[in-house]
Amino acid sequence: MSIAQNIEVIRSRIADAAACAGREPGEVLLVAASKTNPPEPIRQAIAAGVNACGENRVQEMVEKYNAGAYAGAPLHFIGHLQRNKVRQVVSLADLIQSADSAELIRLVNARAGALGITQDILLEINIAGEQSKSGIAPSEISSILDFAAACPQIRVRGLMAIPPVSTGEGSNRRYFSALYKLFIDIGAKKYDNVLMDFLSIGMSDDYTDAIMEGANMVRIGSAIFGARHYIQPEI
Ligand SMILES: *Cc1c(COP(=O)(O)O)cnc(C)c1O
Repeated sequence: MSIAQNIEVIRSRIADAAACAGREPGEVLLVAASKTNPPEPIRQAIAAGVNACGENRVQEMVEKYNAGAYAGAPLHFIGHLQRNKVRQVVSLADLIQSADSAELIRLVNARAGALGITQDILLEINIAGEQSKSGIAPSEISSILDFAAACPQIRVRGLMAIPPVSTGEGSNRRYFSALYKLFIDIGAKKYDNVLMDFLSIGMSDDYTDAIMEGANMVRIGSAIFGARHYIQPEI
């Protein structure tokens, strides 16, 4: 199947899941997780109407950006952001989905201030308390929100999470529903610079479950582009 056909199938599954969750299909944003893919398939995904492109690695994103890979679509950074790469990512990414510490938020705020812009971010939540993953522990969220509220050059737009690898249909629903509850609870409180617009959860194996539990942004790679071919080792 072509990339356009893959996206058509995904859109129709998104529409069905959204209907189950009582949402309009258009309320769920489809982010193409385009890591390891060269510019051409990314352009095809944009032509087929994905809402944004998401990249994990800074150098790869900068190279593909310079090659015009993302023209016509917003660009999201979705990988672990190292402190020394903040400079390159702020302003290039319309949304940094993976803000995972107060220190990172402080650096993003400072860089955005130097550029005279406001940088949109999501807070990455480590919902299952996995040691191997970055992300903010649920117990730390309120202090991070207090910190973010005092950073005028950033705007928190919601939450993102990468739950444990799905072990079958429905295995992650409890994490998704816990995230949805956080999303609603935080949205009910008033913090400066904090809007709970986006709940970014759900990948190729579990996006319909995520939407049924309340996600309105899904990040999909292999179901759009096919299996990944790593050209460099994971760092
Ligand atoms: C690669 C990636 C995805 C998409 O993964 P698939 O299983 O290929 O859909 C989503 N989110 C993040 C952060 C990723 O790195």
